[in-house]
Amino acid sequence: MKWYLRDSDEVISLMDSSRNGLTQQAVEDRIEIYGLNKLEDKKKKPVWLLFLDQFKDFMILVLIAAAIISGFMGDVTDAIIILIIVLLNAVLGFVQQYRAEKAMLALKKMAGSHSRVIRDGSTVDIVTSELVPGDIVELESGNVVPADLRLIEAHALRVEESSLTGESVPVDKTTEKLSQKDIPLGDQLNMAFKSTLVANGRGVGIVVDTGMNTEIGRIASLLQEDEAATPLQQRMTDFGKKLSYLILVICIVLFVTGLFRGEKPVDMLLIAISLGVAAIPEALPALITISLARGAKRLVRQNALIRKLPAVETLGAVSFICTDKTGTLTENKMKVVEVRPFAGAQKINEKLTLLDCAMAINHDVKQTPEGKWVGDPTEVAMVEYVAGHFNNDVIGQLQAALPRVAELPFDSDRKCMTTIHQFNGQFIVVSKGAAETIASLLDDQEVAASILNETADLSAKGIRVLAFGYRLLQHIAEPVNFDQIEKELSFAGLTGMIDPPREEAKKAIETCRSAGIKPVMITGDHQETAMAIARQLGILRENDLALSGPELQSMTRNELSEKIERISVYARVSPEQKLTIVRMLQSKNHFVAMTGDGVNDAPSLRAANIGVAMGISGTDVSKQAAHMILLDDNFATIVGAVKEGRRIYDNIRKFVKYIMTCNGAEIWTIFLAPFLGLPMPLLPIHILWINLVTDGLPGLALSSEKAEGDIMTRPPRKAGESLFAEGVGIHIVWVGLLMAAVTLGTQVYALSSDKAHWQTMVFTVLSLSQLGHVFAIRSDYESIFKKGVFTNLPLLGAIVFTFLLQLGVIYLPFANKIFKTQPLSVSELGVCVLLATVVFHAVELEKWIKRRNMAFKTSQSNKNK
Ligand code: ATP
Repeated sequence: MKWYLRDSDEVISLMDSSRNGLTQQAVEDRIEIYGLNKLEDKKKKPVWLLFLDQFKDFMILVLIAAAIISGFMGDVTDAIIILIIVLLNAVLGFVQQYRAEKAMLALKKMAGSHSRVIRDGSTVDIVTSELVPGDIVELESGNVVPADLRLIEAHALRVEESSLTGESVPVDKTTEKLSQKDIPLGDQLNMAFKSTLVANGRGVGIVVDTGMNTEIGRIASLLQEDEAATPLQQRMTDFGKKLSYLILVICIVLFVTGLFRGEKPVDMLLIAISLGVAAIPEALPALITISLARGAKRLVRQNALIRKLPAVETLGAVSFICTDKTGTLTENKMKVVEVRPFAGAQKINEKLTLLDCAMAINHDVKQTPEGKWVGDPTEVAMVEYVAGHFNNDVIGQLQAALPRVAELPFDSDRKCMTTIHQFNGQFIVVSKGAAETIASLLDDQEVAASILNETADLSAKGIRVLAFGYRLLQHIAEPVNFDQIEKELSFAGLTGMIDPPREEAKKAIETCRSAGIKPVMITGDHQETAMAIARQLGILRENDLALSGPELQSMTRNELSEKIERISVYARVSPEQKLTIVRMLQSKNHFVAMTGDGVNDAPSLRAANIGVAMGISGTDVSKQAAHMILLDDNFATIVGAVKEGRRIYDNIRKFVKYIMTCNGAEIWTIFLAPFLGLPMPLLPIHILWINLVTDGLPGLALSSEKAEGDIMTRPPRKAGESLFAEGVGIHIVWVGLLMAAVTLGTQVYALSSDKAHWQTMVFTVLSLSQLGHVFAIRSDYESIFKKGVFTNLPLLGAIVFTFLLQLGVIYLPFANKIFKTQPLSVSELGVCVLLATVVFHAVELEKWIKRRNMAFKTSQSNKNK
């Protein structure tokens, strides 16, 4: 239906609704008929295809082929066992992938948005997917339009429709019906379409279409994009590919040397391919996803909702946190503490000053049925002041006596809000806003200058000042031209309010400092107010700089670049300037977290390494642009999230270290044995088994590892740092070699002392060494005995379980047949366990040396100070 051709009241009655909204019953009926207001997701891959995907890997296919060939050539049990292990491997891979996808889906669900609708006569917040045709929706600047709407109210309403029309300049919306038929979407000025963005103003609309019936729904299939891999996953996938080639070459060399030594070609083929399968870390990308997604889940519990998975890994590298003041560092519980009506201003009556009246009518605060005032905390504080000072009814009475005829809503760029009301047969224009803004609109320059002085005094005490101006007019031209109206104002007075700093913010800022992260306040508020609060919180210290938006504007790039790392407070900054700040910090190789709540903050949130939106006070637009949403709008939550991000990254690095070292050890063992004149130390099944049990369980349990003791006292990791930095690469090489040496040593010893069970011993030593290794690398520096043996129970459980499985392989008769193992005597087992602890002790020694070096460096640098 062409809703734009109809009058708004006609649309309301056609939709069988009213300005009071639908009844609950009507809503339920309509959900039955129209379904949920959701854009359908791209068709999901069926589960069985996801499972088959596990066999897409080239090496796995080759292994299966080789197993089948060897089966035909006689060794049927071997072939079957290999196939079973491959199958188990696939199941494990599948489960991991499936869990990763589930976790991602859960994350997406949590990020679901809300809309404000009128139902049964009162305004309620509902989940956007529950909107139905006929619902009356309120829109305000920053909202994403939740469904296709025919507008029935529009106040300076401008909507950015680029997602639908490609046009990025916001369109002015109206409510009048249009007469021209068949006009393009961009010209349907009395409509607002799902997924477009309210750039400015306020409006109300009636839902005419939902879900896939909306304009965006019709083209939704064109818009669906795949979830991009995180940078870490990309790097790991690239690295995995390169590593695969290397391993392939090693396998070929192994195969060829085996042939020269007279081994059977089928045996050599199987061993070479098994080694290839075991050593290529194909599970790493899935393990990283799980680890990040699990991290994201834990972060939600700490009130940080991750919208984009890569954010979890980048969090740990943050070196600057640029944060808003109001609500994030402060409690956003404003309280009016100063009311200074201007003596020269008109009086409403004996008791009421014009300032009181202005506070009572120039706002968008609403009262709940329980009598609570809700809305912008600045405005709530004023309304509460007037209501408290006189009585609760005075607000309603004044609003009724001075009905509003037009408004220009608050905008943080203009820092001002204006409303026009009928007043004694005339019109009164009331503007409130930042002192500088109102002062610049006054007709009396002397008064303007005195306001600025007064404001500076109050601001220095951390008080937030708002000034009020007014103007009487005989008539108002339609449409209202605010440029003509917002000028030549008379001064009504000013108010001062306080917003106490959050207690927990102070501690979080201290933590930032010790963690090498610089906290920076960026605020729209007055410079003196901002500095006073920044000082109280410990953000602004001696030698730090504070800058105002206009000062920033006049600086050259070089000047800014020189000073930027010392600037702690930016005041009266416009959202566009936030982008300059982010870019400049990034050009100096910093990882920047930036908070924002308004529509205009979206570009800087997108540009930041971690864009952080406010869950409570933030607009939909800012939330969509952000990587992370703070559910409690609290600065301390960002710092908590950084800590969690560091821990998650540490743990990912640990399991990469673990898996790569183990795989390295397997390769070294098999590869070096022939050069030492030793027979093949392990059978293909042994290699596959080690890969199956050791890579999977203990590796995954490493992601439950608790934070290192120094997690928030060490500097952030460098941007773009490789996973193999900080000695990880070297560790992988030397511990892998050591593990192989111990394994081959076991072989030499067992063969020389004529032990019939030499191969079982070799197999056991390699298997158990890996368990010792994983236990030791739980911590990068600390001794495990200090960190606590029982502080990661999942890992301990995985180790015990794997150990029992290994005993099963050694001692259960049927396993002996399958794995070609023999029961070891107690002394043989004892020797194996003892040898397997060599790696554990060596890694503990490595950590001890690292600790000593660190202590030495600290004492040197203390001496130099
Ligand atoms: P922050 O950027 O840290 O959140 P802020 O709340 O002061 O701080 P803005 O919301 O951009 O930042 O407000 C900028 C200025 O606009 C305020 O300092 C105040 O002077 C003025 N202001 C804030 N809210 C209103 C409002 N509802 N009506 C009119 N003026 C306002």
